[in-house]
Amino acid sequence: MEEETKKIIQESLDALYEKKEFLPDLTDGVRTQAFNSLSAIISTPNNIHKSFLRVPREDGTIERIPAYRVQHNDSLGPYKGGIRFYEGVNEEEVVNLAFLMTLKNALHQVPFGGGKGGIVINPRNYSEKELNIVSRKYVRYFADVIGPDKDIPAPDMGSGEREMDWMMAEYKKIHHGKPYLGSFTGKSVVNGGSLGRREATGKGVYFTFRYMIHDYVLAHKEQLENSINPFSKTALAHAERPLKMAVQGFGNVGSVAALEAYHCRSLNNQVIAVSDRNVTLFNEDGLDIPSLVAFTSSNRGDLPKDEAELDKSGIQAEIRGRDELLTLPVDVLFLAALEDQIHQGNMEHIQAKIIVEGANAPTTRVADEYLDNQGVIIIPDILANAGGVIVSYLEWLQGRETQYHEESEVFRLLLEKMQETMDTILPQYFGDPYPLRENCFIHAVQRLSTVLHKQGKLY
Ligand code: GLU
Repeated sequence: MEEETKKIIQESLDALYEKKEFLPDLTDGVRTQAFNSLSAIISTPNNIHKSFLRVPREDGTIERIPAYRVQHNDSLGPYKGGIRFYEGVNEEEVVNLAFLMTLKNALHQVPFGGGKGGIVINPRNYSEKELNIVSRKYVRYFADVIGPDKDIPAPDMGSGEREMDWMMAEYKKIHHGKPYLGSFTGKSVVNGGSLGRREATGKGVYFTFRYMIHDYVLAHKEQLENSINPFSKTALAHAERPLKMAVQGFGNVGSVAALEAYHCRSLNNQVIAVSDRNVTLFNEDGLDIPSLVAFTSSNRGDLPKDEAELDKSGIQAEIRGRDELLTLPVDVLFLAALEDQIHQGNMEHIQAKIIVEGANAPTTRVADEYLDNQGVIIIPDILANAGGVIVSYLEWLQGRETQYHEESEVFRLLLEKMQETMDTILPQYFGDPYPLRENCFIHAVQRLSTVLHKQGKLY
């Protein structure tokens, strides 16, 4: 597992070890042993499955495409996590992301463990027919290790409901006569998916920001005013005035978060910049997000990338370089693209005082530390982007009963769960000097270790 992640795990464990009320019944030697055991369990995945999918291309050639399924930990329930279709996928990355899923589920009390899959492919270079074969082959190669009560994949970067539908169909064929609706989540609604699953991550990302920086802060103003924690100051300074925002990534997560911000008129916030793999679009007075969403949906997901396309879209904006978005003078930065976007090379130029991680691991460890020291609030991935897996859980439950909720009910349950988590984490966060990521990790590891201890696994 990546060194950075190992370091964070160790720090969370050290913080837990300091807490005398954690596993207090154990005598000193046994307690130390339990912590060593925890550290070993958490820092290594249970299983790493790797295969080379044999895929015939339409031009007659044959490709062997590397594919992974990593199962990190299933103490809290079946392994759960997306499958990314991305050419930069590698084993270490998938292991790291599977670990984050274990923590994300533990943090939000979703009864799943952590897993992740990856296929080393740029889906833009493959036809629909070829992608169908890739998806089905993935299921065939990993058929024995996945399943509704074993390991439940979902969409991730580069995959969506179309791929989940194909994959579930293949699973059903292989495991004929067995329950199959819960084998994949993020399916289309007609195929057993949940209403609201597509929007869930983006909605949850915006909600996390809004609840934390606005609702919670205003409701606990006095406590925050008396706090010596630098993050309380930052939160108070942003709770009551209109904010300028930038959104990196305009896919399923970024576009929905931007739309939520746009429609959240009560707060008078403005999205002044959005970016994708090609460009940044900037408008000091706020961008017309609904028109941008309409444009991207008829333009293979891409934002207007030159003046001609801008004219065609009727959107008022300036075109800037793709990475300029990150260093614009904004209050809030939503990172909804890839990992490692804020790093040693650009961290000193970040002007936002609030960063919300819609993507997984978009801030490197060094940048994280640097920004923490500047009093920047970083709302971490495992807290902010759990909307997807929370609604995946609702989808899995609905599939068991074949009873489906209205969309409004799905969103109600989603936001209720995210708020519950924040109400547990935030009092401590605004009261002590640890950054939010550490706080979330400590809570998640504590939940996981309590269960491991009860299961008699910490010896
Ligand atoms: N891929 C999403 C994530 O990283 C969703 C996972 C799921 O729904 O299982 O959280």
